[in-house]
Amino acid sequence: MQQIFTSDRMAAFFRSIGVAKLSNDWSFKMTANTLENHWMPFTANRSFKKQPRLLVRAEGMYYWDHNGKKILDGAAGIHCVNAGHGRPEIRNAIAKMLQDVDYVPHFSVGHPISFELAQKIARITPGDLNYLFFVNSGSEAVDTAMKMALAYHYARGEPQRVRFVGRQRAYHGVNFGGLSVSGMVKNREAFGVGLPGTVHIRHTFCEEQRFSNGQPEMGANFAEDLQRVVETFGAKSIAAVLVEPVAGSTGILVSPRGYLERIREICTENGILMIADEVGTGFGRTGAAFASERIGVVPDLMTMAKAITNGTVPMGAVAASENIYKTITDSAPDGATELFHGYTFSAHPVACAAGVAAMDIYENEQLFDRAMAISGYFLDSLRALRDLPAVIDVRGFGLMAGVELVKGEHVGQRGHAALRDLFDAGLLIRAPGDTLALTPPLTIEKPHVDEMCEKLRGVIKRI
Ligand code: PLP
Repeated sequence: MQQIFTSDRMAAFFRSIGVAKLSNDWSFKMTANTLENHWMPFTANRSFKKQPRLLVRAEGMYYWDHNGKKILDGAAGIHCVNAGHGRPEIRNAIAKMLQDVDYVPHFSVGHPISFELAQKIARITPGDLNYLFFVNSGSEAVDTAMKMALAYHYARGEPQRVRFVGRQRAYHGVNFGGLSVSGMVKNREAFGVGLPGTVHIRHTFCEEQRFSNGQPEMGANFAEDLQRVVETFGAKSIAAVLVEPVAGSTGILVSPRGYLERIREICTENGILMIADEVGTGFGRTGAAFASERIGVVPDLMTMAKAITNGTVPMGAVAASENIYKTITDSAPDGATELFHGYTFSAHPVACAAGVAAMDIYENEQLFDRAMAISGYFLDSLRALRDLPAVIDVRGFGLMAGVELVKGEHVGQRGHAALRDLFDAGLLIRAPGDTLALTPPLTIEKPHVDEMCEKLRGVIKRI
């Protein structure tokens, strides 16, 4: 069997935490005790620790687990590794930055690389979303965008605009702002009431959309819910509406044709800011740099994270329009801080170096176009699974797809079982509820799509 730990140090580390080497291959036995101290995020900790799935190496389209098993990455990590795994350009950029400087604060001082990254991203953002504020995650990006919306209205003399509009089946991260506008009950119910005054409009899924090819034809009218909120609460109480162009964490719900356009129109008519949460859809996932661009809508604020560094170093960002940037910065006296917001690790030079290298790969390899080119094959191949009785929908856009399974004893039971069996069969996916979510690296080729579909078919047949 292939040796998967490339360094003795790594093997020594595993031994030091009690992971025993079983034989002269590189299989390891996990016991509950050895894994106890890491409280894992969004994980059934007790079951995981009984039967862990550990990924210890990655290259191109594949991971290898701790038993040396090769696993096709059907999820690009959590759709962040858009350029594929193990890119030496990014590794080298990180190493070089660490040789030059380990950390630079960004409160009133800085490092040139953050300006370079901001310029590179501004080149690919829609419209005039040319002002980049760096954070460390998607959740921080969402809360930052919400605070920018409040600060913008405050600066222009409308401080009463404090209401946010979210949607059912939305996911905007786990911090209190994003949680308040999200619409996933499990993520909310243990954590109190969130931001006061938040309102939710409907999600965009309806039965008629099943097996749609790309953006569904039905459902643009769901945007009228926002008009009803305006009529109920008054436009002057509303700061912003948050939308994911494709809701990823609740089963790949693609915005219907005309829906985002209508949301944009209602926002413009009523002085409400439109925040597009592109944490999951950014950097080529839908076949354009951002889904807003592919759909043809320019929001006022746009969040991004995940693939900004190809998943190598935690980072996120908010892109703000010129109007928002200038309104906020011009409102403060010369020499005064304009926005009282930021993080110790905002624009960390190592993250920025990884980001610049990732942007160069995206551009040099024209990866967004490549994603667009293979999207038809990817979505058609997945749609061919509809002959399986357990498959009740296949939907997708670009290189994001959801294969929905008929519900089992409870929501998520089939999805979870499929995720586990697919991992055993050598395919990594995500499974929100009973939907199998496929978001592979944009470097995927037809044989990988075939391999993915073959594994899906094999497992779904037995579910
Ligand atoms: N917003 C969207 C649309 C997301 O998909 C995610 C993560 O999946 C987030 C926000 C939160 O990002 P993070 O997990 O980096 O905090």
